[in-house]
Amino acid sequence: MPSNLVIVYHRQPYEEVEIDGKIEFRENRSPNGIVPTLKSFFGRVDKGAWIAWKHADDPSNPDFERVVEIDDQYGHYTVSRLPLTPEQVTSFYHVSSKEAFWPILHGFKERYNYDPVDWPTFREVNWAFAEAAAAEAAEGAVVWIHDYNLWLVPGYLRTLRPDVKISFFHHTPFPNADLFNVLPWRKEILESLLTCDVVGFHIPRYANNFVSAARSLLEVETLKREKVSAEFSAETTALSEQSVVTEIGYQGRVVRLQASPVGVDAGYIGKVAASDETAERLARIRQQMRDRRLILSVGRTDYTKGGIEQLQSFERLLEARPDLRGKVRLMHVSVAANANMTAYEEIQRDLEALAGKINGRFGSFDWQPVALISRPVPFTELVAYYQAADVAWITPLADGMNLVCKEFCAARGDGDGVLVLSEFAGAAVELASAVHTNPFSHKSMDTAIQYALAMPEEERRGRMKANRESVRRRDVRFWADDQMQAFGDEVQPREPAT
Ligand code: UDP
Repeated sequence: MPSNLVIVYHRQPYEEVEIDGKIEFRENRSPNGIVPTLKSFFGRVDKGAWIAWKHADDPSNPDFERVVEIDDQYGHYTVSRLPLTPEQVTSFYHVSSKEAFWPILHGFKERYNYDPVDWPTFREVNWAFAEAAAAEAAEGAVVWIHDYNLWLVPGYLRTLRPDVKISFFHHTPFPNADLFNVLPWRKEILESLLTCDVVGFHIPRYANNFVSAARSLLEVETLKREKVSAEFSAETTALSEQSVVTEIGYQGRVVRLQASPVGVDAGYIGKVAASDETAERLARIRQQMRDRRLILSVGRTDYTKGGIEQLQSFERLLEARPDLRGKVRLMHVSVAANANMTAYEEIQRDLEALAGKINGRFGSFDWQPVALISRPVPFTELVAYYQAADVAWITPLADGMNLVCKEFCAARGDGDGVLVLSEFAGAAVELASAVHTNPFSHKSMDTAIQYALAMPEEERRGRMKANRESVRRRDVRFWADDQMQAFGDEVQPREPAT
């Protein structure tokens, strides 16, 4: 049966576990992540499909199960798995996407690595995704494609299936023309994206950047520009936009641009936060901390997350403020998500060296200033640390959205805690009451953390109240409804089956 909604996302929506020789499918992400939200859309349509890839040493092996049927709390849907060889995965994902696109998307020209990119393989993999989506989609279906590693899918799909509605969502920042045009495949990528009905971004700035890139290369017309709503343009950050282009025209087509910041599942986080288990964990953490204050930093090990710059600022803090020695502790969670990639291994080494240096320089037998955690902390545990933290110090150099800062606010049912947030996280335009900082400036970083540590309780509570309201209002369901609206009638606004 053809599908009314086809989600094209490079990863599978579950984890395959073998139990007694039988494969079972389980939730593979933090229950708060984006995957469950995407799957929840299947409860709103008669038939859904998901397209992803799966490792296959020999793609022609007849035992490779290409399509699996899933029946779970989200409804009934099929998952088409494209068999990709390890060489294809390395080329398409680790090289083209992570070494060439990722640095440009995040503004790190110097890390951009052009030479190893094998463009024919990138095209071939994207073509396979487009073909699989075309095969699944019902007449006039919505095909919802996610993220930059599938940039060419819309264009291919449009030639295969002119009838379908194509929506593309970027989960990363989108750079302006000066940066984007570093990519030699810029025109091909833009021409593909301009075959979409809707192109989505987290915040208005990224949508405007996309327009700047498109206009620099193609005859693109601005059809509609709207004022950005006040709650969406924190005056405190220099990086918010006053207006956003919401419709452009290209070769007779109208492309709608959508700025829609993904949110967190505030209700779920609130429940975890209020559980007895969390209360027990929190009590244990407090006991371990004694009268020390906790600064918490959580992210992936990636140069975009600014871990080194943050540890350097922490070192300067202990240097400048001897009174804080023995009194504060930085828990720096930095999870290595991209194993075997040199750039990430280097950062991991640098983080370890710097954390070791700070601990050696300032630590004592019973006080270690930095706790560097490289393994993932389960989400339910993380919530207890969010609650225990005096300050959440979230200072990426570039970040499409950043969910950790929103999770921190959602977890603070006690109304206390300070959020120090980089201006360069997409979330900064929404979280106007965070202490905003520019991680490229030592002075700004150092002042912000000192300000946060000294903040009086009344101010802390006032800021947290405003941030929590914003996180609650624009939670993941708000984002989902925004997407629904953009899809139109095909995906009916029924309640999910959960
Ligand atoms: N996370 C987690 N355990 C960890 C570190 C991170 O569960 O040890 C989760 C965190 O709760 C958040 C996600 O990983 O939901 C990170 O999302 P974010 O948007 O902040 O960053 P990304 O990694 O997507 O760039």
